[in-house]
Amino acid sequence: MRLGIFGGTFDPVHYGHLLLAESCREQCRLDAVWFMPAAAPPHKIGRAVSDAATRIELLQLAIGGHEAFSVSRLEVDRGGVSYTVDTLAAIQAEQPEAELFLLMGADTLEDLPNWREPRRILELATPAVVHRAGSPAPRFEAIAELISPERLKIAQQSQVEMPALGISSTDIRQRAAAGRSLRYLTPRAVEKCIEARGLYRG
Ligand code: ATP
Ligand code: MG
Repeated sequence: MRLGIFGGTFDPVHYGHLLLAESCREQCRLDAVWFMPAAAPPHKIGRAVSDAATRIELLQLAIGGHEAFSVSRLEVDRGGVSYTVDTLAAIQAEQPEAELFLLMGADTLEDLPNWREPRRILELATPAVVHRAGSPAPRFEAIAELISPERLKIAQQSQVEMPALGISSTDIRQRAAAGRSLRYLTPRAVEKCIEARGLYRG
């Protein structure tokens, strides 16, 4: 089984995330994509992140009905700062037969060398690097020294194309705080839940 892991804060999930996941599922022929909300994302310490239960609930509303998509509680249940290397190692130990893909944007590829144990990450999973239309193409040179030439080639062949959607969770939170419309930025059920609970009102 070809399993895609898509990590993020998802505070809240939006159509940019969903289209990225679906583009990877289709183009990398993934059998499943696990959305992996971070407990405490290493790069977002300092900002108050919504509680995990809320982020998971919004994710479940967003992916409802997609048979290949699910939400994993692995990082949330582990707690503490979420490191991708720990997550991939845990998944590999549980499902040794699965071929793992790590979904990421071209910008994240540049940052990957600064993550904890990048070499090990690239051994455990093939990066499925998403190129957004109109943005610079992924620079695989960024990881060339951290991966074997054979695996680098596989990573390059796994590049995924997607249309650009200029949507971010930050923008959605700011809009919610200002009482502005969230329609068509995230699935209706997510939008309704944010509104009903008064999330991100500040
Ligand atoms: P924030 O604004 O709080 O940083 P975000 O919208 O960037 O949130 P994250 O949870 O940080 O969402 O993103 C998880 C992953 O999704 C990241 O790898 C990010 O590059 C990717 N991503 C976020 N927004 C988009 C988008 N509009 N199109 C494609 N990928 C996206
Ligand atoms: Mg972000």
